[in-house]
Amino acid sequence: MEDAKGSGAWPYTNLAKRRLVTALEEMWREAEKGKYKRSRVEEEEIDYATLAEMARCIMSAVEVVVASRKMKSAGAKREYRLYIEIENGKVAWQLTGDEAEADELPGPGPVPHLIFKVSILIFIMLRIGYHVSIAKSIDLSFDRAKELGCTAMQLFVTNPRSWTMKRLSKEEKERFIEKQSYNISAVAHMPYLPNLASPREEVYKESKRALKENIERCNELGINMLITHLGSTLGEEKDPSKKVAEAIGEYIDIFEGTILLENEAGQRNSVGSKMEELKDIYDLLKSNKVGFCFDTCHAFASGYDIRDTRIMKKIERLLGKERIKVVHLNDAKYPLGSGKDRHQNIGLGYIGEEGFRRFFENRWLAEKNIILETPYSSEISPYEELALARKLAGC
Ligand code: ZN
Ligand code: MN
Ligand code: MN
Repeated sequence: MEDAKGSGAWPYTNLAKRRLVTALEEMWREAEKGKYKRSRVEEEEIDYATLAEMARCIMSAVEVVVASRKMKSAGAKREYRLYIEIENGKVAWQLTGDEAEADELPGPGPVPHLIFKVSILIFIMLRIGYHVSIAKSIDLSFDRAKELGCTAMQLFVTNPRSWTMKRLSKEEKERFIEKQSYNISAVAHMPYLPNLASPREEVYKESKRALKENIERCNELGINMLITHLGSTLGEEKDPSKKVAEAIGEYIDIFEGTILLENEAGQRNSVGSKMEELKDIYDLLKSNKVGFCFDTCHAFASGYDIRDTRIMKKIERLLGKERIKVVHLNDAKYPLGSGKDRHQNIGLGYIGEEGFRRFFENRWLAEKNIILETPYSSEISPYEELALARKLAGC
């Protein structure tokens, strides 16, 4: 605790203070190892909800403070200032405001009016990793991701190649939830068989059932993002957007998280290769529980040159950067506009290192969950590939 210097009154317990300082110092050490990317200094007035959200994104430390403040000052309309600075591994914080009344304030409850003036040197953790296997037991996905050095991972929550769903034992589920303490963000991907745009009534019905089951399982496991492809018209379905939107609309309310629509690679009859199609479906649903997953290989294959920052700007304007929650970072095995869904390892395909570097010039993309769905390769190990991806994302 020698390194921490504080000024101003600190109305909270020493424990809360210690936890904050420890968490910040831990964060600094991680930053040194290249796990966090230095972002920016925020200096603005923000409300409680925003601060809490920021805290969740950045670290648990501020949340500790926020939480204890919430306890002590719920309902208060006064202003506090909290300054946190980290320099050379040293943490300095400052809280200003009149804390005298803190003890007289009511207990926990909603905090509708609190405004915090916050100036924080933020280190945002790059959330990046692989699609990992759930073989043997679903919780092992976390161990596989951890072993590879991932800070984000993608998994299937049901059997990806079957319509039937394996039961999940209570123990398996508990272990999965326990391992969320690894602090690896988990996103789920729908299995391969469902086709939410299918013109065949039986398949459409089965697909909807699969969607519902996947949603329920995500709820059970505490996973708040579920990625889905939009399916295929089989050359028959005339209004696929409506069909997909109807299917998703039916279950969106039972999901505690967000459904992410993934762009396609431009294969024959596939739905969602044009960004406008994704936007159409979003517009039909008009729900903040719907977002997007942007796959770089798919976009490139369907003719979007993601190496061109102007193209990405257009996509950003159309889809909205807040709504793109996940980036599937895959290089492409075939040239621009090939219409082929064939992933290649980062840097070894047609997008290439320089292409990805330019892709990430759109800095906001580095703040998303970045998932690699690249093949095993003798040319580059997963560790080398992840290190390269980090570097290209600017960290
Ligand atoms: Zn996908
Ligand atoms: Mn993908
Ligand atoms: Mn693909």
